[in-house]
Amino acid sequence: MKAALFEKPNHLSVVDRPLRMLGKDEVLVRVRSCGVCGTDVHIVAGESRSTPPVVLGHEYSGVIEDVGSEVMRFTSGQHVAIDPNISCGTCYFCRRGEVHLCSNLRALGVDIDGGMAELCIVPEQQLYLLPKDFPATASAFIEPVSCVLHGIDRATIAVGDSVVIIGGGTIGLMMLQLCRAAGAAVTIVIEPLEQKRKIAQTLGATHVLDPNNVNVRDAVMDITAVGADVVIECAGRISTAEGTLDLARRGGTVEFFGVCPIGQTFPIEPNKVFFKELTIVGSYVNPLTFDRAIKSLAAGIIRVDEFPINRFTLDDVHEAIRYQKEGLTIKSIIEPNK
Ligand SMILES: [Zn+2]
Ligand SMILES: [Zn+2]
Repeated sequence: MKAALFEKPNHLSVVDRPLRMLGKDEVLVRVRSCGVCGTDVHIVAGESRSTPPVVLGHEYSGVIEDVGSEVMRFTSGQHVAIDPNISCGTCYFCRRGEVHLCSNLRALGVDIDGGMAELCIVPEQQLYLLPKDFPATASAFIEPVSCVLHGIDRATIAVGDSVVIIGGGTIGLMMLQLCRAAGAAVTIVIEPLEQKRKIAQTLGATHVLDPNNVNVRDAVMDITAVGADVVIECAGRISTAEGTLDLARRGGTVEFFGVCPIGQTFPIEPNKVFFKELTIVGSYVNPLTFDRAIKSLAAGIIRVDEFPINRFTLDDVHEAIRYQKEGLTIKSIIEPNK
């Protein structure tokens, strides 16, 4: 079986990986498409936690090829998506229902062989059946949408709110659509690249700002008069995270959704948080939001057909990762069986 194996930082290679025996509660999936995400870029660069050697790929879907002897809910030929995050079910957090904070959380494509391969073995509990007519392109976005859905839940947007979204990449553009679905009346997307600002406008952003051309803080104040009700950082950069507190109104909420590099910091003035009575929240992965992600994509609440997408074979995995890393595409998608 051909697979993209991450062995150590800066060592990702396409190898012939032997397929182990299928366990009784496991399912063998032939991968149709696997999205490349920022996390993959960080793992390859050695900037994100993982358990090598491991086949990368955690945003994937495919068709069931075989099922273990005790698998009841699935049969061969069904189209499925995979929730990569596996919680233990018994730790302190799992038993409070906070499965994403599981002390023993492991993920397919990070700690266990994932979807950048012709075939992948998946525990039955991680599978979600896809509707027959579910668009193939949308299936590579289910996992990131499930994460963005948790971000929207955490941001607690009220109907009529003004929201600033920092970063107009894949995540920012999906966040924008969910902010609108949540009832935001004003959606301001801050993004330096014109092409992405244009897509944001197509997807209904009420304002787009080029941070290289305008003073972002002044512009947000001009639009909102008092600052935004909610500010969501989706770029994952310290330089953009640093300005977030100034964009929120008094009593507003700031969410750090983008993944900044581990160890990088910026100073916070506690008096500002006190005086503005800010709420600062984080959002981590996708607790129990996978089914909603599938339904949101199927219903067109999130549209991905406007996104410039680049498709690659498994042999071109380095190119796929480079495209994602250098922002040459909204989404690199690997099709391992093409
Ligand atoms: Zn991802
Ligand atoms: Zn747990």
